[in-house]
Amino acid sequence: MRNPRYDILFEPVRIGPVTAPNRFYQVPHCNGMGHVYPQTLARMRGIKAEGGWGVICTEEVEISPLSEIAPHHEGRLWDKRDIPALRLMTDACHEHGALAGIELMFNGYATPNRYSREPPIAPSPLPVSAMDPIQARQASKRDIANVRRWHRAAALRARDAGFDLIYVYAGHDLGMPMHFLSRRTNRRSDEYGGSLENRARLLRELIEDTKDAVGDRCAVVVRLAVDQLLGPDGITAESEGHDVIAMLAELPDLWDVNIADWSNDSQTARFSEEGYQERYIAQVKGLTSKPVVGVGRYTSPDAMVRVIKSGLMDLIGAARPSIADPFLPRKIEQGRLEDIRECIGCNICVTGDNQCVPIRCTQNPTMGEEWRRDWHPERIAARASDRSVLVVGAGPAGLELTRALGQRGYEVTLCDAQEQFGGRLIQESRLPGLASWHRVVDYRLQQIQRMSNVQMLRGSPVSAEDVLAFAASAVFIATGSRWRSDGLGRTHRAPLLDPGMRGVFSPERALAGEVLTGPLLIYDDDHYYLAGALAERYAGKGIEVHYVTPAAKVSEWTEQTMEQSRIHSRLLELGVQIHCQRRVTTVLPGAGGLSVGLTCVYGGVARTLEVASLMPVTMRDSVDALYRELLAAESRWADSGIETVQAIGDAWAPSTVAAAVYAGHRAAREFDQPVDADQVPFKREWV
Ligand code: ADP
Ligand code: SF4
Repeated sequence: MRNPRYDILFEPVRIGPVTAPNRFYQVPHCNGMGHVYPQTLARMRGIKAEGGWGVICTEEVEISPLSEIAPHHEGRLWDKRDIPALRLMTDACHEHGALAGIELMFNGYATPNRYSREPPIAPSPLPVSAMDPIQARQASKRDIANVRRWHRAAALRARDAGFDLIYVYAGHDLGMPMHFLSRRTNRRSDEYGGSLENRARLLRELIEDTKDAVGDRCAVVVRLAVDQLLGPDGITAESEGHDVIAMLAELPDLWDVNIADWSNDSQTARFSEEGYQERYIAQVKGLTSKPVVGVGRYTSPDAMVRVIKSGLMDLIGAARPSIADPFLPRKIEQGRLEDIRECIGCNICVTGDNQCVPIRCTQNPTMGEEWRRDWHPERIAARASDRSVLVVGAGPAGLELTRALGQRGYEVTLCDAQEQFGGRLIQESRLPGLASWHRVVDYRLQQIQRMSNVQMLRGSPVSAEDVLAFAASAVFIATGSRWRSDGLGRTHRAPLLDPGMRGVFSPERALAGEVLTGPLLIYDDDHYYLAGALAERYAGKGIEVHYVTPAAKVSEWTEQTMEQSRIHSRLLELGVQIHCQRRVTTVLPGAGGLSVGLTCVYGGVARTLEVASLMPVTMRDSVDALYRELLAAESRWADSGIETVQAIGDAWAPSTVAAAVYAGHRAAREFDQPVDADQVPFKREWV
């Protein structure tokens, strides 16, 4: 039963002509599915409706080929032929009593129109936001009239597709109304430029047009970035953000307020806390009588109640918390708070959209698999046999495998050499800003501890003989991976240095808290978070740190998680000396410890750094000796009652935490289910 303290979250909220059944509002979020994978998308959204989200919105939906964002997979409503695909989603939401919202989008200079080849338009001439050598031309009065007409027509099509809420989008520096609003991108001198009233004219007209077209049946929502985090150069919550809302206060049926750009709006846990947008949106409720929704990576129902009761907003907006746990509202409603799978704020979900593939999630391995593999986040097939299972290794892969097999009803024993379960996350979650990553472990342990069919053996290093003696029917090896310290990796296809040299440290030794002397050189040929986070940790302790990478940017892959520029800035603030596009070419014993030779990746410049310590962060090896020994002992399996031995997670192929959780989940789903290796293992949309 739900705690009465949370009753307020389940109150209906009137939004213009429609009523949200509760205050749980999935704001628009991209997903790498869009118009390319409509069934995948509809099932994903429908499951959130089943999980209790009262309003479910689309990602951005292009209203015209003059505003298409290929190769990214966003929604499309160019003409009525796009209606059936969107209808799949509205039906899936309505089936569970949720309202469906659509974010209509005219991108302006935010897209180069690579597919349609139409020159983009903007309030004033500007290069497009991407690096394409393309400029947007200045929108004429006729262009503006066209955009208004297309938006109106798209709103009518959206209504016909079954949507209940229609967005006019001025968020994230992406939508054209925002480009007109901002002095940085609007240099016009006609009635659409100059004063704030003029710059807000297009936004006002689009709201009025949409209300006029569909306002009797659909709520009209405005998403506005009230602060661009650019100080006086941009829109700020205190100045123009405030004034626009005051000016248009009663026009829309709902204000959806956030900050721009997307990387500011969807900050990772490394750089922001739950509720990090509150100070920007605090003023909005005081300016309008209309309901307000905002986001802040809320996963705690107490925090949700606080923001409602304090009058900050009326609906709890969420993208990532709804991705990590599509059943978050239901769990609060049913008083099952301990079952909530909290978002860890890692932004792996964002990488799907950036890389034009369907979304995945570190915490929720079923995300993106709802339709093609028929995976439900809460339900899984009951066990198909009485086979007993031994899982060796309690990192993300072993924990998720155990949790899901336990949920299926199998007798499972999970053992780990360490006293503490969690594998790589025990140490990595102690790095600056990564504490919430431990939620991957917490959620799974919380579930497993309640399962009488799961036994946990801590501090139990296991050998092949131990496994044979244990006599489980199925053995899973989830023993993880170990960083190399000889520099082998992407750049160096042969070892670069002798890992036994004095002063050379592996990341594991650093993660375990070993004291290093500076100056320390961290050589990043991995390009994700670890090298940057270690540099941050040591620089924070006052150690002189040189960060060296062959890449053009610090922690380059974190572009995909929208953290890259923040990481670079933080390292600069901490005084880390950054050497990008530099390859380590020699490591020799030197006066103070080690002499490390660097060369520019394009040739030419060479220099030597004298350091006390060197830490290569280049690649990992699977810890698979146990797996190999068991394969070598296959002739003895039958005597031990062993039928199968399978390596999963990093022990099979080192990858992200998201991939390890996914591997564990998949192994549990496929256990006792014959898999035909010659068949494509999932459904495809167009086959
Ligand atoms: P993954 O990301 O694939 O889950 P991790 O590296 O996070 O892998 O976790 C692997 C876990 O396996 C670690 O906690 C480690 O202590 C444990 N482990 C490795 N070898 C053995 C072994 N032979 N016996 C028991 N536990 C082991
Ligand atoms: Fe949260 Fe990470 Fe999942 Fe995104 S991928 S929803 S940030 S846990």
